[in-house]
Amino acid sequence: MIQVGALPGESMPLMKKEVNDMDKIRQFGNQMQYRMAQFMYGRNGLDALARTCNWIAIILLVINLFVQSGIVYLLWLIFFSYSCFRVYSRNIPKRYAENQKFLDMTIVPRRYAKLAKLQWRDRKVSRYYICKSCHQQIRVPKGKGRIEIRCPKCNERFIKKT
Ligand SMILES: [Zn+2]
Repeated sequence: MIQVGALPGESMPLMKKEVNDMDKIRQFGNQMQYRMAQFMYGRNGLDALARTCNWIAIILLVINLFVQSGIVYLLWLIFFSYSCFRVYSRNIPKRYAENQKFLDMTIVPRRYAKLAKLQWRDRKVSRYYICKSCHQQIRVPKGKGRIEIRCPKCNERFIKKT
């Protein structure tokens, strides 16, 4: 009886300690998150242009694993630094304007990239086309053979094999 009573008493402080450790870790995590948020307050953060530069930097880094070129390294440094500069920049209106300009300039490739993504996702059921006269995206069920497609926006007709 005494032993049974003593066992949980002995294990209790240990469990309590584990809980305390977990609390400490959680507290530390919260603190870090808070500090990070405080640090990022009033800064531009990761916008589309910064993210694109970051991706280019990662690709350059991978390429440099194979080619070991000083030029590739320099390009990586430029893209990486520029991406960091954007993320931590405090001049938000200027960065915002640059990002908008970037989005406007890349509207066509971004549209095609989005289309390719959809095309891949729905490859078994649908096909996507872009109207040549108004650039409207049109979805057509797959496997209907050669059909005439009419653009719902501008009524342009074209024939495609689905
Ligand atoms: Zn159209």
